[in-house]
Amino acid sequence: MLFRSAVPVIRLWQLTKTYGDGEAAVHALRGVSLSVYEGDYVAIMGASGSGKSTLMSIIGCLDVQTSGRYLLDGVDVELLNENELSEIRNRKIGFVFQSFNLLPGSTALQNVELPLTYAGVRSGERRRRAAAALDAVGLARRYGHRPAMMSGGERQRVAVARAIAVNPSLMLADEPTGNLDSVATDDVLAIFARLNTEGRTIVLITHENEVAQHAKRVVRVKDGVIVDDTRQSPIDGPPPLHTLTKYAPAGAHR
Ligand code: ADP
Ligand code: MG
Repeated sequence: MLFRSAVPVIRLWQLTKTYGDGEAAVHALRGVSLSVYEGDYVAIMGASGSGKSTLMSIIGCLDVQTSGRYLLDGVDVELLNENELSEIRNRKIGFVFQSFNLLPGSTALQNVELPLTYAGVRSGERRRRAAAALDAVGLARRYGHRPAMMSGGERQRVAVARAIAVNPSLMLADEPTGNLDSVATDDVLAIFARLNTEGRTIVLITHENEVAQHAKRVVRVKDGVIVDDTRQSPIDGPPPLHTLTKYAPAGAHR
């Protein structure tokens, strides 16, 4: 059994975010309070413009709130300097975006090695770990392929491999299946289910109910506030629908 900390991984208190000021001010978040504990798998849903990506940027330490507090693993993120923040972004958090954000001129292996380079991992070990991450997402035969030679689903799996290469405890994904067909979506969800079963906390933004039903908890955002928070399955235990996926929790490979 996994050890569960009593301290939430993510703790938000009355978080607000305002872009611009005066007449032009946009109140993207208007007081969001949320706690996410280790091992949870949270889907954040809401209409376009409701503040989901803003919330994700703050959780991912890519942006700071206008007011309120954010504790990440009990640490007040506002008190950290730029070096400490980039250390956290690089080692503790794995990011996956809708548009993959891969380097087009680099191979799959090189793309996955990048965060390991930033983390100071030496080349032999780097290559070994990047290859293992690609193997774990079913891309063992794609090491030398560049993004242009891969399907959208394969590109997103490279992006997931890059996110897990440093072995982060928290995965953040903003519409990771937004550009994928249903088969590729199932692949990515299967990988997320396995990562969660292995103990990683996942926060995923989606507007698709079919995607959200794979999460343990669904948080709905509207006009910058949380309007609903529903648990679909317990934190301690596998995510819902995991038995339908081809990446079995035992870690079986295709
Ligand atoms: P979602 O991801 O749910 O579509 P966002 O968090 O991207 O929502 O946006 C919430 C609101 O904040 C929107 O009205 C959007 O136009 C605005 N917004 C987002 N980012 C910025 C920015 N950098 N500057 C100004 N307004 C922004
Ligand atoms: Mg968004």
